[in-house]
Amino acid sequence: MPEGVLQTDVAIIGAGPVGLFAVFECGMLGLKCHVIDALAAPGGQCSALYPEKPIYDIPGHPAIDAAELVRRLEQQAAPFTPHYHLDQRVESLEPLPQGGFRLATARGHLIDARAVIIAAGVGAFGPNRPPLDSIEDYEGRSVFYLVTRREAFRGQRVVIAGGGDSAADWAISLAEVADRVLVVHRRAKFRAAPESAARLEALARDGRIELIVPYQLHGLEGSAGKLSAVVVADLKGATKTLPADVLLPFFGLSMDLGPIAEWGLALDHHHIAVAPATCMSSIEGIFAIGDIATYPGKLKLILSGFAEAALAAHALYPLVRPGEALHFEYSTTKGVPGVIP
Ligand SMILES: Cc1cc2nc3c(=O)[nH]c(=O)nc-3n(C[C@H](O)[C@H](O)[C@H](O)COP(=O)(O)OP(=O)(O)OC[C@H]3O[C@@H](n4cnc5c(N)ncnc54)[C@H](O)[C@@H]3O)c2cc1C
Repeated sequence: MPEGVLQTDVAIIGAGPVGLFAVFECGMLGLKCHVIDALAAPGGQCSALYPEKPIYDIPGHPAIDAAELVRRLEQQAAPFTPHYHLDQRVESLEPLPQGGFRLATARGHLIDARAVIIAAGVGAFGPNRPPLDSIEDYEGRSVFYLVTRREAFRGQRVVIAGGGDSAADWAISLAEVADRVLVVHRRAKFRAAPESAARLEALARDGRIELIVPYQLHGLEGSAGKLSAVVVADLKGATKTLPADVLLPFFGLSMDLGPIAEWGLALDHHHIAVAPATCMSSIEGIFAIGDIATYPGKLKLILSGFAEAALAAHALYPLVRPGEALHFEYSTTKGVPGVIP
């Protein structure tokens, strides 16, 4: 074995909400986990895309902000002392001759695991960028593809581009703090949920949001990464200039399975096909849970992912601890290390 290869029972690819809960489920069975994520912080889509939004369908939480849910999941996993390897994608996954798998990360870490849980969500996700000249000069300073803290836009002139849920929801939310909110969409009708679209139009009637329709982005004006205006064009090409401090283009996410697509797993429309009773993929010892996993009737919800984490942990146990009987126990019976009942 090469020097410095880390050993673990289970390697979890993806520290989104579902990967974090898998640490807990494996931990309750006495299994140790290493968790690897391409992002710099745990939480997956919850942290990266909508940390300040309340989620209403987590059992037992009538409403919980996405960031708070992640914080609690980390807390729930903590007694099992998972090893996190953040800011590094898993680049390769190969079977070992003696059984188990070796993972290699983009930072050169090698991890040998008896079993692997892939909780990689939509894969390595990134925003769809509008094709505007020099947009990269403004990214991170005046052009943002996601909002992690709406307070950052207090008093600013904000141009939002897009016609879906993110565009509508953030326009509604930022109208409360921004100096001015303009929404550029190439159609008069918004694709957002009907209630959000109706709210957007009501705010526009009240003069709190300006709808720039049907227009699309045409160019950016500014210097040294600081935006001064966004230029938009109508369908005939006539342009107008919107003074702006910030542009938020919301044109959806590009979803890319990345290296996962090369690992020989049976796929179904860019998702990993699994057996619903165990969440095992087409390769014995590799499991997939959460948004990346698919089977008939799959619902892409956090709560489905939580249940899949429990199924996978129980199904992989005999592979990690061959010959050791697994007795099903409730958490109320077993307790959690370090957590006083
Ligand atoms: C705006 C919005 C609102 C939502 N609202 C709700 C809601 O109200 N209720 C609900 O149930 N769901 C909601 N969802 C969906 C929910 O966020 C997802 O179902 C959930 O995040 C899936 O969790 P996951 O852990 O499977 O994947 P993700 O959260 O996508 O996390 C996967 C992680 O895997 C990492 N990864 C991918 N490939 C690799 C690799 N090769 N190496 C290392 N790391 C990798 C990614 O960086 C990512 O951090 C919403 C989603 C959005 C975008």
